[in-house]
Amino acid sequence: MAGRNSHRSERARAVKERVTLSAVRCDYADVGGSRAVYLTFDDGPNPFCTPEVLDVLAQHRVPATFFVIGTYATEHPELIRRMIAEGHEVANHTMTHPDLSRCGSAKLRDEVVTASEAIRLACPRAVPRHMRAPYGIWTQEVLAMSARAGLTAIHWSVDPRDWSRPGVDRIVNSVMASVRPGAIVLLHDGYPPDEERLYTDATLRDQTTKALSYLIPALQRCGFAIRPLPQLH
Ligand SMILES: [Zn+2]
Repeated sequence: MAGRNSHRSERARAVKERVTLSAVRCDYADVGGSRAVYLTFDDGPNPFCTPEVLDVLAQHRVPATFFVIGTYATEHPELIRRMIAEGHEVANHTMTHPDLSRCGSAKLRDEVVTASEAIRLACPRAVPRHMRAPYGIWTQEVLAMSARAGLTAIHWSVDPRDWSRPGVDRIVNSVMASVRPGAIVLLHDGYPPDEERLYTDATLRDQTTKALSYLIPALQRCGFAIRPLPQLH
């Protein structure tokens, strides 16, 4: 019986997740019908990794969306200003990167609202329009909060797990194997405050930066156009 019950609760959880995720943007396959793809970077800005990522994007003249952590935006406003000056979007990844499903309603509101404020304080020209929940953990409460704050909830459809440093080739190959028109690609230009530091600052996201320099031309050779996230509201 125990086995059947746990099986049933797993199914219930899977159904609940599917319902929740259906309200979150995982791709823009339905928009425009073009071969657009969207590059997104989480967990920055980071004084070591973000400038390198920005350099590669500038070299190839392609836009990206940075889902930044509010406390980091406050510590490094110059990186937020550089993102905006170079034509990228700065979006909300909460103030301190908690699992929002474990936050009460006041804490949830605070995490989302103060992160948008921190972004605007760092760069008054920055207008956050999108939000990504830390760890991709969405609940109905998180979605409702995000909507109240005027932020479109954005997940991803392509995750090469670059944060685990699987190797430059594996990051590139993994993206190229699963990318489709409208895909949202998840990469990282920093690390959350609670992540165990296994690497030095200099090597932390070096694979991501190098992979990006191969990935952009590879995507373009396959006819994909790297675009800013659509503004649908
Ligand atoms: Zn994150």
